[in-house]
Amino acid sequence: MDATKPLSAIASDADYDPNSMPVARAREYIRAFLRPVSAIERVPIRSALGRVLAEDVRSTLNVPPQDNSAMDGYALRWADLKPDSEVALEVVGTAFAGKPFADATRAGQAVRIMTGGNMPAGCDTVVMQERVKTAPGRVIVPAGVQRGQNVRAGGSDISEGALVFKRGQLVQPAELGMIASLGIGEVSVYRRLRVAFFSTGDELVSIGLPLRPGQIYDSNRYTLYAVLSRLGVDVMDMGVIRDNPAAIEAAFTQASHAADAVITSGGVSVGEADFVRQLLAKLGDVLFWKIAMKPGRPLAYGKIGEAHFFGLPGNPVSAMVTFYQFVREALLVLMGVPEPAPLPVLKAVCTTPIKKAPGRTEFQRGILSPGPGGEWTVRSTGDQGSNILSSMSLANCFIILPEDQGNTAEGASVDVQVLEGLI
Ligand code: AMP
Ligand code: MG
Repeated sequence: MDATKPLSAIASDADYDPNSMPVARAREYIRAFLRPVSAIERVPIRSALGRVLAEDVRSTLNVPPQDNSAMDGYALRWADLKPDSEVALEVVGTAFAGKPFADATRAGQAVRIMTGGNMPAGCDTVVMQERVKTAPGRVIVPAGVQRGQNVRAGGSDISEGALVFKRGQLVQPAELGMIASLGIGEVSVYRRLRVAFFSTGDELVSIGLPLRPGQIYDSNRYTLYAVLSRLGVDVMDMGVIRDNPAAIEAAFTQASHAADAVITSGGVSVGEADFVRQLLAKLGDVLFWKIAMKPGRPLAYGKIGEAHFFGLPGNPVSAMVTFYQFVREALLVLMGVPEPAPLPVLKAVCTTPIKKAPGRTEFQRGILSPGPGGEWTVRSTGDQGSNILSSMSLANCFIILPEDQGNTAEGASVDVQVLEGLI
C-alpha cells in the first residue's frame, strides 16, 4: 500500500470494493495511513501512567542489587551439608532485609536470614525455617538440600545495562513499578493525543433538555468520552451538531484544527452520507465504506487536514463495536505504540444457538464465564439489535462469527474477544 498517495487513490486498487469491505482489509488501509505524534515531554514517572515512552529505558543497576534470600530461614554454605544425613551448623548472626550480616562466614557456620536479606559472604544456599530444627546457637539442617536453593540472584529481575523498555512501550502499572525499581524518577513520553468528537443528528438532545416527540438523548458522546478517557487521550467534546451542512462544516473545520483525531457518530449511513460525503471531499481526503460486518456497516475514514478522521455509525452498539474493531488500535498507533497488542481472542463453547446469515463478520455481544469442566463458555446477551445498548452493558465479550459462517449450533466452539474492563 502506498501511503504517500492520497487515500482516495486506494479506489484504483484491484480488490477495492467500498461497498463490501472486509473488516481485516479496512484495518489494513487505516493502519497504512496513520502518522503517530512525535512531540515529546519529560514527566515525573507517575504522570507516565497510560502514556507511551518516547525513549528507550536502560538499566544502570542490577535488580535486585545483590544476591538475597527468597525465604525466612538460614543462609549456609552448601559444601557443609551431607547428602544423606543431617548436619548441625553454628548460627553466627542474622541478616535482615535492609540490614545485612556484615561479617564473612566460615565453614560450619550459618546465618539466620529474612526474606530480602542479602546473602552473607560465603553462603550460597538458604534453607527455609520450616525445614530445620534449632538448638541454642545452632541449626540442624536435614539432608537433601539443593545448592543455591531459595536464593534470588542479583540482577535476576533486571540486569545492569539491559534494555528494559523500548521507545513505544505503553506504561501500565507493572512498567511504572519497574521504572521505579531502577531508581528512575522522570521519563520522556509522547505528548498526549488530542481527540475531538461530536454527535450528529437532528433527533439528538443533550442531557438537561426535555425530550420532545421524536427525540432521543445522545448517548454516543458518553460512551465515546468513556472509551477515549480509558485510552488516556485528551478529549474534546464538541457536543451535538445538527444535520445541517454549515454547522457540520464548521464543526469539522474546528475539530481538525484543534485535534490529532476527529471522531463523529451518525451521519455516515446511506441517505445521510451524501452531504457529509460532499463536504468531506471538499475539506479532506475521506473514504466511505460499507464494512462487511454486523453491527457497524457504514464507516468513514480519512484525513481532514492533518487530523485523522473516523466517522462511526450512529447506532449506539455499532459505534462501540466499530470503535473497538478499528479506532482503538489506530489511536494507540497515533499515541506512539508501533504494534498495539490486539484484544485477546479465545475459544469458548457457545451454550446458546446463534442465528446468522453468511456474508458479514458478526460481533455479537456475549457473556463469557467458566463452565463446569473449567472450559470457557459463552452465551448470547439476547437481543442483538444495534440500538440495544444494554447488550453492551450485559456483555463482557464479543462473539466473533466469521464472514462466511452461517448459524452456530449450541455446543459449537466460537471465537470470543475479551472486553473485560473495556466496556
Ligand atoms: P445514523 O447513523 O445517523 O443514521 O443513526 C442511526 C441510528 O442511531 C438512529 O436511530 C439514530 O437516532 C441513532 N443515533 C445516532 N446518533 C446517536 C447518538 N449520539 N446517541 C444515541 N443514538 C444515536
Ligand atoms: Mg443521523
